[in-house]
Amino acid sequence: MVDLKGQYEHIKDQVNTSILDVIDNTAFINGPEVHAFQAELEAYLNVKHVIPCANGTDALQIAMMGLGLKPGDEVITADFTFAATVEVIALLQLTPVLVDVDPVNFNIDIEALKKAITPKTKAIVPVHLFGLAANMDAVMELAKEHNLYVIEDNAQGIGADFTSKDGTKAKTGAIGHVGSTSFFPSKNLGCYGDGGAIFTNDDDLAYTIRGIVNHGMYKRYHHDVVGVNSRLDSIQAAVLRAKLPHLDTYNSKRRAAAKKYTEALSGNKNIITPSSNCSTSDCYSDTDNSHVFHQYTLVVKNTDRDGLVKFLNENNIPCGVYYPIPLHAQKAYKDERYNEADFTVTNQLVKECISLPMHTELDDEQIAFITGKVLEFVGE
Ligand SMILES: *Cc1c(COP(=O)(O)O)cnc(C)c1O
Repeated sequence: MVDLKGQYEHIKDQVNTSILDVIDNTAFINGPEVHAFQAELEAYLNVKHVIPCANGTDALQIAMMGLGLKPGDEVITADFTFAATVEVIALLQLTPVLVDVDPVNFNIDIEALKKAITPKTKAIVPVHLFGLAANMDAVMELAKEHNLYVIEDNAQGIGADFTSKDGTKAKTGAIGHVGSTSFFPSKNLGCYGDGGAIFTNDDDLAYTIRGIVNHGMYKRYHHDVVGVNSRLDSIQAAVLRAKLPHLDTYNSKRRAAAKKYTEALSGNKNIITPSSNCSTSDCYSDTDNSHVFHQYTLVVKNTDRDGLVKFLNENNIPCGVYYPIPLHAQKAYKDERYNEADFTVTNQLVKECISLPMHTELDDEQIAFITGKVLEFVGE
């Protein structure tokens, strides 16, 4: 699904040198690499504060802790996302409220979101799924109207731009009250282990969060709040510093690959390509970052989707089903509050979605081979 080795070859010298420097300096934790990366990411995202942490799941949890959400507070998020999003809500004893997604862009459905708001609702967690920005205009408007926090789960969307109705662009993750991301190796900006970060433009919230990631400590050995231990280590920061300057190029390589997939597949009546999933008509353009294609995900109609997965695997083509089970139907998150009739889109998507290999090193020959095999199975 991803070719991290191929990507490494291009940045090998820099990565190796900076990792060795970290070892030489023995500044493994909170070293200068971490501070430098933090500042570079703040500049890239145009956000006031980046707080690095241990992984993307922690980032979400810490964001929610920082906002002071309390047990019983309702937090609304999408039914069609990675489990981490809902897991941290449940862990903090907040009440997860799962809602359906939009059939076109796979992101939180705005009408369903509106309907789910109650007097107990405290926050909304939009997920920029597969690298496409959720409708942040609508989410922010609703949040303002109902006095809710917005926590963006940007684990899949780093580098994406959201273009507002008024034409202004902002990086996803830097639009809500707080945002989170993951540097898991296969993410668009991945390190060589675990890593994550929290973003905010709010000075007070940033201060609170910097204490929470460090055992609730604001003054050495004074623990003012219950915190966690969640750090990005210096070796991972060194890898991320080598990669960050290439992130826009990486994302445009993903878009170029997506464009080629779509050119080959969009003519088939049983295949829905992400061309219609984009919020702008330009999501495959070289310069428009509205979709960063963390995944290239098709919807296949009148097709045995699991048979297609098997067929592609037999032809040595890795592929993935993200995600095969809606969160509201997972054992851990089932609840009698939920009604199947409210999840028609997610229930359908989990049966028809398939993600093709997507990374920065895909070449034309590979894309032709993969799309040829998809068409062979799906038929006319
Ligand atoms: C990967 C991912 C996370 C979790 O990130 P980790 O670094 O693996 O903890 C959270 N949300 C979404 C949508 C993700 O894709």
